[in-house]
Amino acid sequence: MAKIRILPDALASQVAAGEVVERPAALVRELVENSLDAGAHHIEVHAQRGGIAMIRIVDDGSGMDREDAMLCLERHATSKIRTKEDLGAIHTFGFRGEALPSIASVSRFRLATREKSALVGTEIEVNGGKLVAVRDHGGAPGTVIEARSLFFNVPARRKFLRTENTEFAHVEQQLRLHAIANPQTAFTLTHNGELVLHLPATRDMLERIRGMVGDELASRLLKVEETTVQGVTVSGYIGGPGMSRSNRQMQTTYLNGRPIESASISYGLREGYHTALMKGQYPVTFLFIQMDPHAFDVNVHPAKKEVRFHDGHSVRDAISRSVSHTLENAAKLPTGHAPARAIPAAASTQAVPSSRQEQFAMPVPASSAPLRNIAPAPAATSAPRTQPFAPAVSHRAADVLARIATERSTPAIEPQAPEAAAPPEAQEEEVEAPQEPQAPAKAAPSEPPEYRIIGVLQKLYVLMEGKEGLVLMDQHAAHERVNFEKFRRAIESGGVPCQRLLLPVTLQTTPRDADLLKQNMASLNRLGIEIEPFGPNIFKVETLPAFLKTDDPAAWLDQVIEELSSLSTKSSSLRLSEDAIATIACRASVKSNDVLSIPEMQALLKDLFACEMPYCCPHGRPTLVQISTSELERKFGRRAPG
Ligand code: ADP
Ligand code: MG
Repeated sequence: MAKIRILPDALASQVAAGEVVERPAALVRELVENSLDAGAHHIEVHAQRGGIAMIRIVDDGSGMDREDAMLCLERHATSKIRTKEDLGAIHTFGFRGEALPSIASVSRFRLATREKSALVGTEIEVNGGKLVAVRDHGGAPGTVIEARSLFFNVPARRKFLRTENTEFAHVEQQLRLHAIANPQTAFTLTHNGELVLHLPATRDMLERIRGMVGDELASRLLKVEETTVQGVTVSGYIGGPGMSRSNRQMQTTYLNGRPIESASISYGLREGYHTALMKGQYPVTFLFIQMDPHAFDVNVHPAKKEVRFHDGHSVRDAISRSVSHTLENAAKLPTGHAPARAIPAAASTQAVPSSRQEQFAMPVPASSAPLRNIAPAPAATSAPRTQPFAPAVSHRAADVLARIATERSTPAIEPQAPEAAAPPEAQEEEVEAPQEPQAPAKAAPSEPPEYRIIGVLQKLYVLMEGKEGLVLMDQHAAHERVNFEKFRRAIESGGVPCQRLLLPVTLQTTPRDADLLKQNMASLNRLGIEIEPFGPNIFKVETLPAFLKTDDPAAWLDQVIEELSSLSTKSSSLRLSEDAIATIACRASVKSNDVLSIPEMQALLKDLFACEMPYCCPHGRPTLVQISTSELERKFGRRAPG
């Protein structure tokens, strides 16, 4: 009574097809990959009714001879790998030999192909997996593949298809993914006969990106200079601080040209953006990773969307460093967002974006910089920091401390070390056209814009009138940012100035918190908190950071320890990064309901704009939000929407 049966081939293909081709966009993925593998210079994608009625891909690649054309419809027929060893290092998009038979088994399928040198090509028709016809084909060299009536013979699958618009949106997104990674290939996309995308071939990646996302966004991208760390090469373009999206759609990442998603990459991005990215937001990236194909496995996901890195840590590290390095460099340019090229002499007056998506994430002007990860390198990343990533501002010398103490109202252009902060690009420019010493891109704090303070809302939001409309400052978040940068500058130059307590505070802690404090003692000391063991689970605190104004040091310390310990439960080691500790110390140092006087608000605003990254607090939340006059006008019906 055998129950197990070998499935007839056609049925097996249909089952397999469900995994490979779950929707029209998946066909596009597989077929475009095939065309790219075949060396096509021009790829056309035509869709009807979201791709459900028809997807047709036309390429000018190598084409196939008749034998291969027949063979490619057999399951596991592939020209791309031969041995098990090949599977360990895949250089092509395809390798399973699954796509074509799968697609052919669930559609009315037509393949027409011709090699360049062949007199005549081959046309094959397959209907729901059944071979219907093979004939000569007289078309141009290259390959045309057409799949009509997707899932016509698998109603269960068809039910999962969404509306035509949704399906087409996926098709378009899929094509964009490939188009970005392959600027040297021209792409055309039509829907129901109408041209949707036309991307001519170009050598310039940014040009290709611009063709898809438009001038405005493209002009604000930052170039990630190609760098290799531990065998991981990273390059591409990324959005600057404040440029983010609420979903991952614009977070595109590629591994050896293949669009992929990976937790290691996402972590790396997050780490690299650090506080430049608001919680819950995703960066805009077009990031390319190149690695030895032996160093990862693509054969883990049916749609080949995910990969498994043998050493995810180094990938994460390389990305994080590239991103933070890029953000740092950009921050030193007067133009802020301009891809590191021409540097106008005038300091930028930053434009506040009007686009609705970004009204809560203001752009960052010249002087703002993302935070460097100043945490002591954990054991696993103790590899020597490669030259390009040397902390850019570390040699800002001891005058930093003085700067903290003194007013930072003067847009400090310290003539003694202009090269310290000037990006390499700026220097090159200078060689060509020597300029007056004032211009070179020194990370000078920006002048606060002309804001007129109107009042305070809920003891928290400072309302201000700006050129563009209403501006709100979250005074709590602003304070945190200001304190945080003070902290960090001081740490960079050797330690935070501290105030000695009249009476040392003794703290009784749990054993776990005691371990936590011991692990982080050195960092705490550097932050101006002189703490030392004073018995089992007891600590003595002698000093606190100088800027801290508190009448209850013990309560403040309790709060800090509590936050540290809640943070440490989320991380695998008890040792926390110095940034994290600084962030917590800052948060604890700000009282939210402080009523500020107008001069205090003005001072805060000035301090905020003296920060390297004024537009968000160390947790990435915005410090300033603008509601533009035009938006108000729309809301009050004084202006047509749009
Ligand atoms: P895979 O891409 O995994 O090899 P496919 O089923 O997608 O499997 O394709 C099977 C084979 O058909 C490929 O290995 C390739 O040799 C050939 N092929 C598919 N599409 C094209 C194309 N557009 N141009 C030339 N050859 C193609
Ligand atoms: Mg393929």
